[in-house]
Amino acid sequence: MRYQRSSALFDEAYQYIPGGVNSPVRAFKSVGGVPVFMKSAKGAYLTDADDNVYVDYINSWGPAILGHTHPEVLEELKIQAEKGFSFGAPTELETEIAKFITENVPNIDQIRMVSSGTEACMSAVRLARGFTGRDKIVKFEGCYHGHSDSFLIKAGSGAATFGNPNSPGVTAGTAKDTLLARYNDFEQVEELFKQNPGEIAGIIIEPVAGNMGCVLPENDFLQKLRILCDENGSLLIFDEVMTGFRLAFGGAQELFNVKADLVTYGKVIGGGLPVGAFAGRNEIMDHLAPKGGVYQAGTLSGNPLAMRAGLKTLQLIKNDFEFFNRLEETTEVLDIEIGKILTEKGIHHTINRKGSMMSVFFDTDKVSDFDDAQKANHYTFNKFFHHMLENGIYLPPSGYETYFISDAIRDEEINMTLDAVRTF
Ligand SMILES: *Cc1c(COP(=O)(O)O)cnc(C)c1O
Repeated sequence: MRYQRSSALFDEAYQYIPGGVNSPVRAFKSVGGVPVFMKSAKGAYLTDADDNVYVDYINSWGPAILGHTHPEVLEELKIQAEKGFSFGAPTELETEIAKFITENVPNIDQIRMVSSGTEACMSAVRLARGFTGRDKIVKFEGCYHGHSDSFLIKAGSGAATFGNPNSPGVTAGTAKDTLLARYNDFEQVEELFKQNPGEIAGIIIEPVAGNMGCVLPENDFLQKLRILCDENGSLLIFDEVMTGFRLAFGGAQELFNVKADLVTYGKVIGGGLPVGAFAGRNEIMDHLAPKGGVYQAGTLSGNPLAMRAGLKTLQLIKNDFEFFNRLEETTEVLDIEIGKILTEKGIHHTINRKGSMMSVFFDTDKVSDFDDAQKANHYTFNKFFHHMLENGIYLPPSGYETYFISDAIRDEEINMTLDAVRTF
């Protein structure tokens, strides 16, 4: 049996870990079947507990943009491990990475390191509230900003403009400060500002959404949000946890030429170790403790191993002038060729793509918001997922996720992927 050992490991994990996993999507709940347990990864490939090998299109949900276990990053980690794992005191290394990032990313003067994307977004919103003295934030349905209470909110029913808790344990009190709008629906955002004058601290958005599948901003949506924030004294927060150092070195800010007031990072910035960060101009970041009054802290923030992995990853990307072109070309080939094969087979679909992020949606012509993503045929996606898995291609186990293409995926891996699509 192909997944015998994974199956046994999952049964055992289930007794000691809630649902058998440490993050829900890993449980394969939406696609069904037994989650595959991994034991090692190198370059473009993952090896599971049964020694099946896969071309990886998740890449740890983005961090492994260079491919897994890059030798130069590994070397840095070995050197740092000898010097110490964690000091709980400042290090020169933290300044080095902060300097490198602020000098190479537009519109940010200072950056604060944390340990996850969740922490980064939670802290950025607190800072936006502290800076503006306002309570409310606007977020978009289908965007994910980590699991802090303010973000686990769904749209209210009917005429209600404020959100409802999307998880037991989130209070109605928290929910009332999060306003929901449809992605790409600028008029709805304008309406929220009209209904809540002088109360909105900021808008938080995935500038290219990746958590409802890949969904692109349309009709100058980001530019319009920028202007709306300026007119209302609100901050524009780009959640670049997924897009940062992936769409371009300067992320979506650079790609779309739109300035954000606060930017959050995660995933690639840690090169595979647990890292998040948030950044902005001096006038805003100066409000953070210890200089300012907005409190935020972390025992392992700026951890030297994580900083080494992150800095080396970012340097390798920055010093490779063809890096983003190459990733984009790989993804474009996948987009076009997968599209061709599915069309030849008469399988109705649409593919969304930006840079090295892409998603295949079935039985639909257009996906530009969460409603559209929900209308796609997820039953077919689940069949597609399992077919690909059986054929050695590891896709995200949900139709609401994006594929993360790494630089280790080259012609050979593309051909393996297309062969698998041909037999779907
Ligand atoms: C992954 C992700 C987060 C959360 O990051 P974690 O490190 O999982 O806490 C936040 N925002 C976006 C856009 C993400 O993709």
